[in-house]
Amino acid sequence: MRFHLEASLRLSGDAAKAEGDLAEFFENQAADLLKKGAPEGMGARVSGWRIAEDRLEITIESDRYVRAHDALLRLRKPLADLLGRKHRLGIRGIDVSRFEIQIESDRPITHRIPYVRESKYEDGRLTLLLGVEDPKRGWTWMLENRIPDRIVNLLEEKLQSYGGKAEHWELLWESPPREIKFNGDPTQEMLKRGWIKHGSARGQWIHGPQSTHLFRTFEKIVLEEILEPLGYREMIFPKLDTWDVWKRSGHAQGVYPEIYYVCPPKSRDPAFWEEVIDYYKVTHEVPLDLIKEKIDYPIGGMCYAQCPTFWVFLQGATLPNDELPIRVFDRSGTSHRYESGGIHGIERVDEFHRIEIVWLGTKEQVMEEAERLKERYRRIFEEILELRWRMAWVTPWFMAQEGKTGLAEMEGAGTIDYEALLPYSGNWIEFQNLSVNGEKYPKGFSVKAQSGETLWSGCSGVGLERWTSVFLGQKGLDPENWPDEFRKRFGEMPKGFRFL
Ligand code: ATP
Ligand code: ZN
Ligand code: MG
Repeated sequence: MRFHLEASLRLSGDAAKAEGDLAEFFENQAADLLKKGAPEGMGARVSGWRIAEDRLEITIESDRYVRAHDALLRLRKPLADLLGRKHRLGIRGIDVSRFEIQIESDRPITHRIPYVRESKYEDGRLTLLLGVEDPKRGWTWMLENRIPDRIVNLLEEKLQSYGGKAEHWELLWESPPREIKFNGDPTQEMLKRGWIKHGSARGQWIHGPQSTHLFRTFEKIVLEEILEPLGYREMIFPKLDTWDVWKRSGHAQGVYPEIYYVCPPKSRDPAFWEEVIDYYKVTHEVPLDLIKEKIDYPIGGMCYAQCPTFWVFLQGATLPNDELPIRVFDRSGTSHRYESGGIHGIERVDEFHRIEIVWLGTKEQVMEEAERLKERYRRIFEEILELRWRMAWVTPWFMAQEGKTGLAEMEGAGTIDYEALLPYSGNWIEFQNLSVNGEKYPKGFSVKAQSGETLWSGCSGVGLERWTSVFLGQKGLDPENWPDEFRKRFGEMPKGFRFL
């Protein structure tokens, strides 16, 4: 990685008289300063400088260790001291006439990146020319706000993840094989028996009384076996996530392709909408182009990960020691993801139901709670549902949803995917997960503990469509084949509908 920066410092007067002192400064002090912290022989260097009346022009070449823009910022203070003390000159601002970043790459960049005016790809090397986008945010602002570093980070992330660096997956535990009771596709079987029907939207189902009762029984099991004994309190989390929430939760970094966006009307004045209303009345068609003009920018999207909106409840708060750990859950509404061509049966849908379990406290409390939950889950899957299932240590969901691979950097943080076999396809699917999210959320939403200790949190999403797929996929739709412990809790099968 190479940086080339041609900058000029705007001064409050002619600097000719300072020439001798500047020569001495660049020769000695500056040279040392620009190597500080870099490995031997590395760092930045001033490859040229000159005085042009009330401007001091500086050219800097550097590697990745002391990046040229950092080098310039490092020089600013000592230069200001020198020019101010001896020559009564102030530094008024920084202008840049050329800022180039070269980075090794196996491909060109074809889309627009902010503050990149031009990009060139040659001989395995990408050259980016940076430029100002908005006159109000000139070079001084860009450099002080670390825009060049963010561009470099972005490229490094991209170039490394490209070429399919896979998400992490590591088996932690697997249940013994069980007798297979069924090997059909549960969605097809439910359809055949009239338990479910397609909704009008893509990836959306209407659940009849039978599968609804199945969902409610799963919820009851989670309530009775986990949430009540462990002291969880039910809450209602909002189901429309604003950009501010997603900026804090990290979702703003990558979730765009899967969001169902929410746009408010530009006005609720009936006159503003009259054209639309009349168009429909005359044509019986909804005028989509016209509507597109009359709705505002999206304010966010529909619930995607379920726990982010909860954190607004705690945002900015300091929690008394005896409130910790906090244990809450939400099952108040649907989650929505645009799964595109990936939708399949009830297993992968655009609208789904999930119980979200959230806990927070000190690191120890959060890790201990995760163990308690894991033990409770194990009992449910082994002794009540009698599943063929396994657990895997995977790329944490909060990283995956930011478009990252690999594992969490915080020791102890990470995600366990719970997977189960679908006999009809031979595939294992994730039916829920459990994560220790480290300090990510308390930090993102500025939540503190009275003790001053760093707060951690965890969350676990119980996907009811996935539990249903897995349970029916392994046991079939006939209650005679279901485990006794489950039948006891399920009770009577509700009567469904008949159609002529
Ligand atoms: P997958 O890899 O299967 O897409 P994911 O990693 O996107 O899953 P998470 O973001 O970890 O899933 O969501 C947590 C839980 O929410 C999942 O374990 C699953 O139970 C449920 N879930 C996620 N996406 C869907 C979907 N499209 N349809 C049904 N349930 C879903
Ligand atoms: Zn969560
Ligand atoms: Mg997914």
